Amino acid sequence: MTEASAKPRIITRQEHGIQSRHVSANAIKVVERLQQGGHLAFIVGGSVRDLLLGQSPKDFDVATSATPEQVRELFRNARLIGRRFRLAHVRFGREIIEVATFRGGADEDSEHREIEAGGRVIRDNVFGSEAEDAIRRDFTINALMYDPVSETIRDHVGGYEDVLARRLRLIGDPVTRYREDPVRLLRAVRFMVKLDLAVEPQTAGPMVSLAPLLADIPPARLFDEILKLFLSGLAWPTYQALVRQALWEELFPALFDDPAQPPPLVEQALKNTDQRVAEGLPVTPGFLFAAFLWPRVKQRATVLIDQGMPAVEALADAGEDAIVHQAARVAIHRRFSGMAKEIWCLQPRFEKRQGKRVARLMNERRFRAAYDFLLLRVLEEPELAELAEWWTEIQKVDGQDRAEQIQKTDRGGRRRRRPRKRKAVT
Ligand code: ATP
Ligand code: MG
Repeated sequence: MTEASAKPRIITRQEHGIQSRHVSANAIKVVERLQQGGHLAFIVGGSVRDLLLGQSPKDFDVATSATPEQVRELFRNARLIGRRFRLAHVRFGREIIEVATFRGGADEDSEHREIEAGGRVIRDNVFGSEAEDAIRRDFTINALMYDPVSETIRDHVGGYEDVLARRLRLIGDPVTRYREDPVRLLRAVRFMVKLDLAVEPQTAGPMVSLAPLLADIPPARLFDEILKLFLSGLAWPTYQALVRQALWEELFPALFDDPAQPPPLVEQALKNTDQRVAEGLPVTPGFLFAAFLWPRVKQRATVLIDQGMPAVEALADAGEDAIVHQAARVAIHRRFSGMAKEIWCLQPRFEKRQGKRVARLMNERRFRAAYDFLLLRVLEEPELAELAEWWTEIQKVDGQDRAEQIQKTDRGGRRRRRPRKRKAVT
């Protein structure tokens, strides 16, 4: 591991150009009060990186030499949280500033640190110095410390140069750092895609061969990471990067024949998710899981239907099977697996276009998601195009018009599609 040299490189305001109006006033307040109390305190992590890269930070974290108890004494609005490593949350209305005591963790012999046979760190709850706190972080660009009082950046790991070069580089020996915490493989993908960074060759080199280490990560932690990977508006490029780094197969094993050429439905689901994020619409992992698992669900349901099982039952059965199989790798919250199942099981009901069934289906809680899913299925089953079109049209009319349209369908004859004036799509 890199030496924890006590002397950081100092980058002045003139050089780095961060403007304090882009920094959370509450984070500055927290740092000021800690420093006035005689402690070291800096803004750290992703927010400093984002400010330098011209992105607006999601949140501001503070690292300090003060212990959690000392932080609590200084702030009435502080609450201590966390068991593995205690942190203080300082609340200002809706904004929470996370304040963490400098952490060591580079000391291999520490009794507070447990290392598993494979090199994975299980527990590292030791306080450390400013320099130790910097080098225990993952990537150099995530280890910069910003002091809003002197408006300087303190760089212990060469992260500033990497920011300027837009380069993603692990601190220390990459193989050791990935082994300590294989989730860093996923974080590497997330940052390279989100920040459009080049991965420094030594950091990129071992990624593919170490991908199987993800098998040791608890499914619940992988779930959290997957949400960040797929719901931040870059799901499709993230998917492609995961496949390139052999990580997709570790997270979602054996779903597609060739992950490099995912089923059209999956590709489009990812792209639609990004489109929705861009438009500020809500997105849910339930829909994405429904898409990811669909090839497996469809295959098994088809077998069951051929054996005489009713379609909805077959889909429920196949869906449950796919979810159980997947949950061994990535824990899917029941809320989202439930949603995926509803989406699958509503599919056969689109084929029934008679009378009250139409209204009943449209009143289902997951109707909209299931309809969106039907549209995706058309990409693989073109014979569903007419059905999907019918459901598109029926949603545009209401009351008497809808009743008439359903009746026309009901009469069983050829559906005369009304010549509708379509709005020109621009
Ligand atoms: P984002 O903008 O996506 O939140 P972030 O860099 O702030 O990115 P967090 O998960 O919020 O990511 O973590 C905050 C900081 O904690 C990181 O910048 C990094 O310094 C450190 N960190 C997080 N996860 C790890 C890890 N697995 N190993 C080492 N350091 C980590
Ligand atoms: Mg963060």
